[in-house]
Amino acid sequence: MQQFKKIFGESKQKIRTFFAPGRVNLIGDHIDYNGGMVLPVAINLGIEAQARPREDGIINMRSNISEKRISIDLQKEIQYSPSAGWGNYPMGVIRLLQMTHIPIQGADILLKSNLPVGSGLSSSAAVEVLTGYILMRQAGYEVDRLALSLLCQKAENEFIGVQCGIMDQFAVAMGVKNKAMALNCQTLENNYIPFDLGDFKLVVMNSNKERSLADSKYNERRAECEQGLSLIRQQHDVPNLCEAEFPMINELIQDDILKARATHVWWENQYVHEAIEALEEGDFISLGESMDASHLSLANDYEVSCDELDMLVDAARSVDGCIGARMTGAGFGGCAIAIVHQDEISKFKTYVGKHYKQATNLHVDIYECEAVDGVKEI
Ligand code: ADP
Ligand code: MG
Repeated sequence: MQQFKKIFGESKQKIRTFFAPGRVNLIGDHIDYNGGMVLPVAINLGIEAQARPREDGIINMRSNISEKRISIDLQKEIQYSPSAGWGNYPMGVIRLLQMTHIPIQGADILLKSNLPVGSGLSSSAAVEVLTGYILMRQAGYEVDRLALSLLCQKAENEFIGVQCGIMDQFAVAMGVKNKAMALNCQTLENNYIPFDLGDFKLVVMNSNKERSLADSKYNERRAECEQGLSLIRQQHDVPNLCEAEFPMINELIQDDILKARATHVWWENQYVHEAIEALEEGDFISLGESMDASHLSLANDYEVSCDELDMLVDAARSVDGCIGARMTGAGFGGCAIAIVHQDEISKFKTYVGKHYKQATNLHVDIYECEAVDGVKEI
């Protein structure tokens, strides 16, 4: 409060506090665009915001991660501007809220985040969904969370120009405490799955390796999947690679690379289903096995891992009490996750941290995470 008032000054209006989580995908990577399911959880790392209405139609925003001050005049047309930096994320959301004729008002908003930025934990979606949620609540709207997540995805696609799927915004908006979301990103069908790991903990490891190759390789992999699918479609009427039958992939795709890509997609989708079943039955050992298998598939068949992520996963797996580990997200850097017995966490942190540093000269940040609710007022 003190800091808020120091930055934005005094006012009679009430300051309200909100929180948007980040998210991590437990399993199911690079299959959202192939008709498969993803399994994200909203996590307890995220962005907190304090917000207070203004009567002059100006939205001022500050964030602890950047010196750049954002000031948006709602009377003027909002346009993307490279010099606005991070402000473009909230600006895109505000622009779309205006286009949907939601009568939003001015505000002072201060963001405080403990979510690593640009590491694949969806800090961008957290900023977007948080901004939209605050402004809608301030305007007196009951927020339709699904609609909000779609609006934020559209803002990231069209205003920022990042062709992300719906998973990030969906998880940030729709998360539920102690639940994972079994989501089909193409149909938006979603089932909440119990996420209770008993004596085990979900651990997120940030490799701090820049994801420089991620965008170009993402496009390349999408094209490879489309090519593989079109070969199958010459013989069979299948909607996507996940719904093909495995022998079709084996018999109809001759090219080794295309076959390997399709093989990952098909198996990864099986691993997601296995993981869901394991969570429903409280069978954490099976969950860990699916995660291990998924990592090998992403590393060997889909080739989107990197030395750093492989090292983290290897180091994690060699600690007693770790029953599964995998990279998560698009790959080429970002984060890996592990399931670790709660009594072994401190040993795990020491061991993985030391080995990773020795091997890569990079520091790994390790977080114990829980599944939390999506964006909300606190
Ligand atoms: P991520 O995987 O974290 O979503 P992105 O590259 O998609 O990575 O988004 C990161 C961008 O989101 C940052 O460069 C910044 O512009 C914006 N951002 C994330 N967190 C914050 C924050 N707390 N305050 C301001 N901007 C943020
Ligand atoms: Mg993002």
